[in-house]
Amino acid sequence: MAPLSTIAPESPFDAAVAVSPGAEERLRDGLGRVITDLRVSITDRCNYKCVYCRTGNEGAQFTELPIESYLRMIRLFVGLGIDKVRLTGGEPLLRRGLLDMVRELATLRTAEDRPLDIALTTNGHLLEDLAQPLKDAGLSRITVSMDAVDSETFAAITRVPRSYERVLAGIRSAQRAGLGTVKVNCVLLRGFNDHQIEQFAQFSRNEGVIVRFIEFMPLEEDRSWRPETVIRMDELVVRLDAWRPLVELPPNSASETARRFTFDDGLGEIGIIAPVSRPFCGHCSRIRLTSDGKVRTCLFSQSDHDLNGRMVAGGTDAALRAYIRHIVMRKEARHHIGEADFEKPSRNMVHIGG
Ligand code: SAM
Repeated sequence: MAPLSTIAPESPFDAAVAVSPGAEERLRDGLGRVITDLRVSITDRCNYKCVYCRTGNEGAQFTELPIESYLRMIRLFVGLGIDKVRLTGGEPLLRRGLLDMVRELATLRTAEDRPLDIALTTNGHLLEDLAQPLKDAGLSRITVSMDAVDSETFAAITRVPRSYERVLAGIRSAQRAGLGTVKVNCVLLRGFNDHQIEQFAQFSRNEGVIVRFIEFMPLEEDRSWRPETVIRMDELVVRLDAWRPLVELPPNSASETARRFTFDDGLGEIGIIAPVSRPFCGHCSRIRLTSDGKVRTCLFSQSDHDLNGRMVAGGTDAALRAYIRHIVMRKEARHHIGEADFEKPSRNMVHIGG
């Protein structure tokens, strides 16, 4: 593996995502980044109360819209060049009408006349029975959030008994249904689940899933984030490499947020997403729609933009598209995590849609 010190941290704007030829109309921000990836929260409700995400005392804070409203907004975005839609929440599997929504999304075509890439992020609690129906409806792939690979630690994180067994069954069901190679996302917190790093690596090898470690960001409800709680990429790489030699894999695309690794025998895949220690804002191709129909241009935005309000007020498709372009032009250059001028965003992760 290349020693980490030889890999230069990226400058935020060294490689804005390339625009495909003939795509002048694509959604682009004021810094030239092309926006291709839309994350849509379809409910603010969640059946887990993960300790690093939620206080445990508060429920949903924002409304959810009729599925048809999300579909209209998604169609507008797809008309502007979005080619990847990720459904999230809250917990998206709690949402009635999800299968019909996926079925409808599967009929849409991108600007290049290709099927939309339809992904979903879930805690996996309800996935065992839904994986095959989601696949049949047209879902392309799935990411399951799982922050421990033992029952006791997992229940302590989610505050739901026997949740580990449910999620494991969900992951296996998704693998059987052929929902891509399932990605398992884990947020590591020092002193809480960092004793599981090696077990996660073994889990990837045993289950044939891609385990992705995500650095903890200051997006939690109870404002418990501290820099020292974050397990940074450098530390993680050293730990994994000591367990079994790592081999770095090439990125899947220019806007790939994860650094990818396998082990010396090619078994297992680990991704490391390091928004805190190695921000990838210069490559950001994302935009978000909240459950109540607000557009957010960055996880760390200080405000959001009421697309649904304009739609309800009778906005035409042309006017709404112009509004989206206007918003995206002002997308934030980067986040300021760990800097003196960092301001907490106006919403927490669970109420944005991760
Ligand atoms: N309920 C779904 C799930 O569990 O995947 C979707 C919503 S959840 C908010 C999306 C992802 O955000 C999860 O993988 C969760 O671990 C991650 N997340 C929540 N708070 C975070 C934080 N402060 N830093 C990094 N990731 C966070």
